[in-house]
Amino acid sequence: MEHKYISQFPEAREIWSYGSGYGGNALLGKKCFALRIASVLARDEGWLAEHMLILKITNPEGKVRYLTGAFPSACGKTNLAMLIPTIPGWKVETIGDDIAWMKPGKDGRLYAINPEAGFFGVAPGASAKSNYNALMAASKNTIFTNVALTEDKDVWWEGIGYDAPGKLVDWHGNEWVQDKADKSQAPAAHPNSRFTAPAAQCPCIAPEWEDPAGVPISAILFGGRRPSTIPLVHMARNWNHGVFLGSIVGSEVTAATLDVKAGTIRRDPFAMLPFCGYNMGDYFQHWIDVGAAAPSQDVLPKIFYVNWFRKDAEGHFIWPGYGDNSRVLKWIFECCDGTAKTVDTPIGIMPTIDAIDRPEGVTEEDMKELLKVDTEGWLKEVDDIRNNHYPKFGKHLPKELSDMLDTLEANLKASK
Ligand code: GDP
Ligand code: MN
Repeated sequence: MEHKYISQFPEAREIWSYGSGYGGNALLGKKCFALRIASVLARDEGWLAEHMLILKITNPEGKVRYLTGAFPSACGKTNLAMLIPTIPGWKVETIGDDIAWMKPGKDGRLYAINPEAGFFGVAPGASAKSNYNALMAASKNTIFTNVALTEDKDVWWEGIGYDAPGKLVDWHGNEWVQDKADKSQAPAAHPNSRFTAPAAQCPCIAPEWEDPAGVPISAILFGGRRPSTIPLVHMARNWNHGVFLGSIVGSEVTAATLDVKAGTIRRDPFAMLPFCGYNMGDYFQHWIDVGAAAPSQDVLPKIFYVNWFRKDAEGHFIWPGYGDNSRVLKWIFECCDGTAKTVDTPIGIMPTIDAIDRPEGVTEEDMKELLKVDTEGWLKEVDDIRNNHYPKFGKHLPKELSDMLDTLEANLKASK
């Protein structure tokens, strides 16, 4: 269709969506309401509507903590929410994989609910190996869009984990037979084909996932795809420092993404740039205000910046990611308990070199690289934020954040 209008009117709490069948535009309860309209409700009422997964983590002693995480689209929210830990005795369960509404409770802590009923996942690449739990959630009562159809009326897509069984109908409706010798064969399923599955069918859904009281949040994670500079994990010194970390979230633009040159960082603060229903600078201020309204800093979640996507000189991921991210979650858990091994650095609080259990294949040298403070890289980062990113918010940028940037720069220079 030639004309598409996806319009939100926050003043009237109204949504008009015309001409687009794409999930983010057609499922009005999702990005349109639960983020764009709800972010305005949240600002007016003193809570937070966020593009965040919510997960429950239980340690071997049975102690439970809940955390949320905001990563830009395609940076690993669904995978982290349904992670299968590789460290013995730890358990991860899902509350939500995309959106969190967080409200201060009577005790001042932030309580999160998942306002969604299901998962809206990308099909290609989803296999029993890559994301078992998401696939099980989509095993019945599920709507598939733009996937391929097998002769016995089952679904198939590239990366499902097995070859196409016989003749398929591709997403265009044409006959399609897999030809593995033909590297340029058009895919049978659209690369952005999706499943819409009930969350209740997910094997790792937490029993309390629909509790209207929400779950108390101990930690908030930010992250993106950063092949260099940003370490595996660091913790903010306090709430406002955490707001600073959220405000600088970005992902590296790959050569495949058209308009900008490869290696550029595309900033997506709080992973909310496409989804915030009001001025982004005012949104940063709202986060600062929510922190200031808490009875004390101690009841607020600790804030972390994670990066699963560091690459070596050959362009390979240094960190194996996925289930092994549980090792980083363990350190985060320990930070919340006050038992983590930490070191103070110019950029924030970091794990000591031996604080995170190393997965197989990750050497001590790798770990040093993953946990290094790259002073020169960070100074470039400061430069990019100061000259390209923060100016976009003009006078709406809270002074707390430009002060944080000055402090970061001074810390880095003093450490040289
Ligand atoms: P979402 O859009 O934020 O929910 O992201 P997904 O969880 O759907 O993941 C997007 C892409 O990132 C998929 O191709 C995943 O395989 C990949 N991904 C997720 N987690 C990791 C990780 O820890 N390491 C690496 N290297 N890739 C990951
Ligand atoms: Mn997702």
